[in-house]
Amino acid sequence: MKKYKHFMKFSTTRLAPTPSGYLHIGNVVNFLTTAALARKMDAKILLRIDDLDLSRKRPEYVKDIFNTLTFLGIPYDEGPADPLDFEQNWSQHRRLEMYQEAFESLKINNLVFACQCSRKQVSLASKNGRYPGTCRNKSLDNNRVCNWRFRIEAFTSTKVNPIAGTVESLQLSKRMQDFVVWKKDGLPAYQLASLMDDLHFDVDLIVRGKDLSRSTAAQLLLAKALKRPSFLNAHFHHHSLILTPENKKLSKSAGSISIHYMRSIGLEPEDVYRQVSVLMGLEKVVTNFGEFLEVYSFRK
Ligand SMILES: [Zn+2]
Repeated sequence: MKKYKHFMKFSTTRLAPTPSGYLHIGNVVNFLTTAALARKMDAKILLRIDDLDLSRKRPEYVKDIFNTLTFLGIPYDEGPADPLDFEQNWSQHRRLEMYQEAFESLKINNLVFACQCSRKQVSLASKNGRYPGTCRNKSLDNNRVCNWRFRIEAFTSTKVNPIAGTVESLQLSKRMQDFVVWKKDGLPAYQLASLMDDLHFDVDLIVRGKDLSRSTAAQLLLAKALKRPSFLNAHFHHHSLILTPENKKLSKSAGSISIHYMRSIGLEPEDVYRQVSVLMGLEKVVTNFGEFLEVYSFRK
């Protein structure tokens, strides 16, 4: 196995699927990339299932995550062994207090503000979907049901450490101006929960698709505001996405072909690996994780 001797060593990375649909080949590419980099860089792999959104979570989707990892032989070293263990010990709903504490500290430091704008009001007030700052200086009543937004001052660009090469600068997208950190349903938004989980599990290597690099910028800004430097020192790899023939991102909601479906029509793990090899443009076709690990080489 090719190890990257010239890279630094990492402690922990994570696979972080959401149980909101059956996993598709794009998710598998992310898992394989993450697991391969972890094995080459001696990092532990944590399985973290992001299940905050109960409206989209379904037991069969939680089960599908375990089934897919087992089916494809994708390894992980820490995290739930099965759906029951997940619900009892690892669900994000077991860490609500931790998210709440972080939110309170943002509140005390006046880094968030309450916003009562509906999604419709925001889109009516702004052509590009960017939050127009309507409630920024309103000091709305804390007890009302509202979203809480992170106050973005001038600091919209942040430094990010890539896993190879020098520090880069990441710009927060204008569309993410004053992004929501706490939702009116009383739960943390993705940016805050993901950051707090990565801090909680000492994750220092984060591998995600290029579409999430804006989230990386948002989370780095949040970490700075929360004075959590360990996240600022974490390293990131934003990999290319697998696109549909129409150049669209694969997604669960768009009905991309799921691994669940491929299994149901009798495809074998090696069939999935063959597809991955072609989609990722690997230099040779692989049929299992061990071969993937041999052939995968990190590209920026
Ligand atoms: Zn507002």
